[in-house]
Amino acid sequence: MNTIDTITTVKDMQRRSDKIRCQGRTIVFVPTMGFLHEGHLSLIREGKKYGDDIVVSIFVNPAQFGPGEDLETYPRDFEKDLELLEKENVNAVFAPDVSEIYGGKFQTYVELEKLPNHLCGLSRPVFFKGVATVVTKLFNIVKPHVTIFGQKDYQQLAVIRQMVRDLNFDIKVIGAPTVRESDGLAMSSRNTYLTQEQRMSALSLNQSLKNAQTQVENGLKDAAEIINAAAKLIRSRPETEIDYITICDPETLDDMKTIDRPALMALAVKVGKARLIDNLLLNP
Ligand code: AMP
Repeated sequence: MNTIDTITTVKDMQRRSDKIRCQGRTIVFVPTMGFLHEGHLSLIREGKKYGDDIVVSIFVNPAQFGPGEDLETYPRDFEKDLELLEKENVNAVFAPDVSEIYGGKFQTYVELEKLPNHLCGLSRPVFFKGVATVVTKLFNIVKPHVTIFGQKDYQQLAVIRQMVRDLNFDIKVIGAPTVRESDGLAMSSRNTYLTQEQRMSALSLNQSLKNAQTQVENGLKDAAEIINAAAKLIRSRPETEIDYITICDPETLDDMKTIDRPALMALAVKVGKARLIDNLLLNP
């Protein structure tokens, strides 16, 4: 097992990255908000295919939480995270304070024009501005060659890919598949909010996506019909409140009415206190 470099200041992180780059090594960066699970660890394992210096950040980014969201209660366990990262032989963890990232009368943000006007961006208006801003800052701090994001947060991955293209970041963006519990629930730090009964209700997210895929394979093309069936299943479970269920173009995220080519089905559902998301590419 490796001893991990734990870094909390921007300057130390930048210096370390400069040194690693001078040694001709390849920095792979996995940004997270901590409370790590197998989904996060799968990104690290994927990352090892692309480089020899793995850096993970742990930062619960206030800029991406709106008023009334779970910034204060977001689960945290730095010691356990560190243990998991050590076991994975991660080289460095960057875990700054909020003041280190947003000190100095911060006032510069990164915003995308179109992609946030869909899916999660509609009910979380500051979310993608917060994500694009912090990821830009983290890219300038960690200076990676490669970065890995999960497809579970499909829209976030699309936003990062677009931002990297638009702003000419010299960074390769890799998307990694969603890791699920054995019963199909997509792993998420927020699953910890669920009671046992709510967890049963939460299975309806993945179940409705899988049903949709079966419907599409059986020749159903009408997106509204598929969405209605998913909504009916989810509403039949206790303590669920649908934010959105959408079938859309996998690139632009514009709604699709007819599934005559691959389509993204994405949904967000509140189950008890937890706002959960999931998605699946539907292939006719
Ligand atoms: P988070 O800590 O929730 O901000 O997530 C950090 C990274 O882990 C993001 O790129 C997420 O897409 C990814 N991630 C979270 N959950 C999963 C999962 N179940 N499977 C794969 N990647 C995930």
